[in-house]
Amino acid sequence: LLTTAAIATALTVFEERTGWRYEGNEDTEKFILLSLDFSGIQSFIFRQPKETRKWAAKILRARSFLVSLALESVVRKVIKEFGVNISTVLLNAAGKVWLLLPKLSDAEERLKLIQEDLKRRLLRDPFYGEIKIRFAWIKMKESDFSLKDGKFAEKIRELQKVEAEKKFTLFSLEELNKLHQEEEDFKSYFERLSEDDEKKRPCSVCGVSPRKGRGKERGDLCEFCDNLVRIGKELPNSKYMRVLFSEGLRFFPFPTFPFPKSNFEVAFFKDRKSLEGSLKEVPLRDSELVYAFEDDGESPYVFPVKFLENFVPTTRLELDVEELEREGRREEAERLREIVKECYDKEVRDQVLEEKEAIPKTFCHLAYESEGPHYLGILKADVDRLGFIFSNGFAKVTEDSSSLTVSRIVALSRMLDFFFNAVVKRMAKEKELYSVFSGGDDLFLIGAWKKIVEFEEELREKFKKFTCQNENITLSVGIEVVKPNLPVTLMAEVSEEALERAKETRNATCIFGRRIVYKEGVPTLKSLLSKASELEELISKEKGNSFLYKVYRISQLASGELDEEGKVSIERLLWRPRLYYLVKRNFKKEEVYRALTLLEGMIRELSENLTERRSDRKNNLFYIPFAITVYKRRGND
Ligand SMILES: [Zn+2]
Repeated sequence: LLTTAAIATALTVFEERTGWRYEGNEDTEKFILLSLDFSGIQSFIFRQPKETRKWAAKILRARSFLVSLALESVVRKVIKEFGVNISTVLLNAAGKVWLLLPKLSDAEERLKLIQEDLKRRLLRDPFYGEIKIRFAWIKMKESDFSLKDGKFAEKIRELQKVEAEKKFTLFSLEELNKLHQEEEDFKSYFERLSEDDEKKRPCSVCGVSPRKGRGKERGDLCEFCDNLVRIGKELPNSKYMRVLFSEGLRFFPFPTFPFPKSNFEVAFFKDRKSLEGSLKEVPLRDSELVYAFEDDGESPYVFPVKFLENFVPTTRLELDVEELEREGRREEAERLREIVKECYDKEVRDQVLEEKEAIPKTFCHLAYESEGPHYLGILKADVDRLGFIFSNGFAKVTEDSSSLTVSRIVALSRMLDFFFNAVVKRMAKEKELYSVFSGGDDLFLIGAWKKIVEFEEELREKFKKFTCQNENITLSVGIEVVKPNLPVTLMAEVSEEALERAKETRNATCIFGRRIVYKEGVPTLKSLLSKASELEELISKEKGNSFLYKVYRISQLASGELDEEGKVSIERLLWRPRLYYLVKRNFKKEEVYRALTLLEGMIRELSENLTERRSDRKNNLFYIPFAITVYKRRGND
């Protein structure tokens, strides 16, 4: 239905502008299908603070939050330029939008102008070209929406081709040189800023923009970063938000200014009462939206509300410790006290005691919530072959004979967006995981490594249920276990690599560099986790890691990993006697039987390859319980 509205809106505007001359003509190009997306989001979100780590969490949160608002700003600008309304948005998933616009006579010129204008703005302070917005579009006729002959699928492929071409031509060197000569911000950059001159030093967070200056609160920050800190502070304690989408935004397309009270770009509210108070004071303006961060179960809103996705676990440090003690939860209180001591410096602790407000948990804190060693788990996941599903029609996916239609694409992407936006967000919150982003068809979570590993199973279960067990829509997951002090950019990189490895086939999870391909007979990550516990219990404390490594080596023999290509070595056939010998030497007589049964069973199930057919061979998954056990034991040292 929404798709019909999009077509109808664009069509009406087109016919009106052309005096209804082409009405009924199905072969006139009447539409433009525009795709918008951000590039450079990752480096923007994860750019590390220069000198101080103090604001790191707030900045990170505010940046990832603002990215979705910035895209919304751009969409609203395009809509205004074309005289259409929000119903022309076909798809709005994390970082990507599709719009159906009327092909006015100067439509392409208009788009180019918007693009140029945006490019210029994003080249100025404080962005300096780090963020780019990609515009890709194709022209369409009414007949291109045809349900029968797969024309729409063809059009989608055409759009994807244009997108791919545009990806690499956002800036040419020539263009950049020209801008360096023409744009004031670039020309005067070295005059305004200097590391050597105390007065001209750049912002201590982004390291590129001028500081607000001495004597001001957070004077070592630039205006933009200062606003990010403010937003990052407000976010975890807010239930509602008002956002203005206007071209007049100070840092267009980012709405960043919470002040002044009468003319804010963005404002946050703790509860419904304060929101309503503000609405009385400053009535809802044109192109302003009210967002709710959670469904509060109250009566429907009289203004548009959209739910946002990111969850950030927070803490009140010592105040939480006190509360746990009051509730008689001694052990938890003691644990938290330890974490506070380990992960927060005095400045931050005092700040919390003074302001009595929750702050985002640091990565150190999240890592300490894992039993065993204090590592973080980073999880990245996305839906397999989404482009393929979109462009090759739903016939296969939905087992329906009719081919791809616009409304189906929209329905599926909305459904997936709902899954990642609402369902996953709730799951992440329950497990106290940090959702860096979740929406569209992908997600990125950070949390205690053990919780992340457990989350994978739950995610797969829920996703399967959500897609009604449809085997054609599958997920790939990449998990990395890292130290909490690893720079976030690297966290994003290593988990992306893990996801890429998983995606070499579909429906797979990659963890510790190993790929678990989910098909019949292959153990799940959860079952590997429980095997890790069995293994840990079996070898207990007195046996060193060297015993574990020897068992792993035997699993490698059994899997044929160490064999020459295409050959079965004698070694591979002899793994059982080797294991028997090893166990006999390391266990008491009465324990040998149990140990042997357990280890032999695991290796047979997870490692042993009796076939040479490549496609049938097991990827030695014994490595995963082995690696988990090694990790956990490291924490006990
Ligand atoms: Zn800055």
